[in-house]
Amino acid sequence: MDSPPFKTRFAPSPTGLLHLGNIRTALFNYLLARQAGGIFLLRLEDTDAMRGHEKYARALADDLRWLSLEWNEGAGAGGQQGPYAQSERGAIYKEYFAALEESGQAYPCFCSEHELAIARKTAIAGGRPPRYSGKCRVLSRADVAARFGRGEPATWRFRVAEGARLEFEDKVRGPQAFATSDIGDFIIRRSDGTPAFFFCNAIDDAVMGVTLVVRGEDHLTNTPRQIMLLRALGLTVPEYAHIALVVGADGAPLSKRTGSRSVQELREQGFLPAAIHNYLARLGHSYDDNSLLTLDRLAALFSVTRLHRAPARYDEAQLMHWQREALLHLSADEIWRSMGEPVHALVPPDKREAFISAVRANVIFPAEALRWAQIVFTDTLAMTHPAHAAITAAGEEFFDVLRRALEKHGTDFKAVSDMLRQALAVNGKSLFQPLRAVLTGELDGPEMAKLLPLIGVDRARKRISKYLAS
Ligand code: GLU
Repeated sequence: MDSPPFKTRFAPSPTGLLHLGNIRTALFNYLLARQAGGIFLLRLEDTDAMRGHEKYARALADDLRWLSLEWNEGAGAGGQQGPYAQSERGAIYKEYFAALEESGQAYPCFCSEHELAIARKTAIAGGRPPRYSGKCRVLSRADVAARFGRGEPATWRFRVAEGARLEFEDKVRGPQAFATSDIGDFIIRRSDGTPAFFFCNAIDDAVMGVTLVVRGEDHLTNTPRQIMLLRALGLTVPEYAHIALVVGADGAPLSKRTGSRSVQELREQGFLPAAIHNYLARLGHSYDDNSLLTLDRLAALFSVTRLHRAPARYDEAQLMHWQREALLHLSADEIWRSMGEPVHALVPPDKREAFISAVRANVIFPAEALRWAQIVFTDTLAMTHPAHAAITAAGEEFFDVLRRALEKHGTDFKAVSDMLRQALAVNGKSLFQPLRAVLTGELDGPEMAKLLPLIGVDRARKRISKYLAS
């Protein structure tokens, strides 16, 4: 028999927008599948009860496509094991649940939430693992029938073998061993009849033929339970790789401030997919090559053995580094497109090339490009305080000479500044700061020799007059 194709998957719960932590999990799965020439599957872990999940399901598909993390199996991509949304797989879960019930590996539990909470507290206080006591495990058929007859609600638990060890090899965390007596019988079906998360999750992975599950280590303790379930059902157990979670610089879980911004926000701000790929593929995973790599190269050089066990610290400076790197690799056309509509509306077609060449080294996001387009191509000029101070310090004579220099030399910045230097014996900052300030309202920015021809003599003259009049 042929061995099954290598298959990874991304299985998000569409309860909100994807953030960097989620997309990193998707990326690792994608890279591994691509490297192996295998399949990257997308499964939606939604349930009917989730509010707004359609909106989030659409958003996450958009995010994945924007990042070119195309899936080859799942909604929109086809496949033999659909449907690929859990909300549509109820009949499949029922079938597997019935198999466990029939073989006596699942039993109903009538313990109330309150009773269970007290038992948990008592166990913890006594230094024992807070596992289920097994109280309903021994109910007779007659008891069960009578309690159902009275309409008592019941959850269904999986009967865990006593006194055994459950071992598996995690591809990142190494050998794992759990005592089944610490696990206790766990709920696979809630009292409202809906299946528990890790029941569906495990069955789907097995039935869909996933061969490697790469997911956050917050799921590590689910894995022994899932392996027991799959074995009980005679299903193939995938391999697992539990990756360290992403934390903020302070070691705490990601917050808004420390990088839990959604992919949508990053996209709107103007981050480039290549920057996100290169940053995330190195967040908790190392490459020897520190240059900007294509998705193809990132995939070819990715290795599970290079995943770190320690939590991955989010570092905004690194993300910005990759954004700059990604920008350097764009063609002028791509830069232009990335600047967006508001910039396109301000820059005259014959000035486009010169504008891009002037600002590209100074601009990381479209908002900055827009600011320079406004400075260069509109009459409004917001003067910063330091720029104002530099103008005042230079004095009126400086600008009289500047006006004459512009009449004489036009927008030849070198000739203009040489004339000022000679006429006023000024140099360095005292020469360039007031010049830049009066023409752009700023003390820093793109090369003036490139900006002045774009600003033009007329607008430059107006700016000087405005200052002199004020
Ligand atoms: N829906 C789960 C989550 O988003 C998936 C967990 C897993 O990858 O197995 O956390």
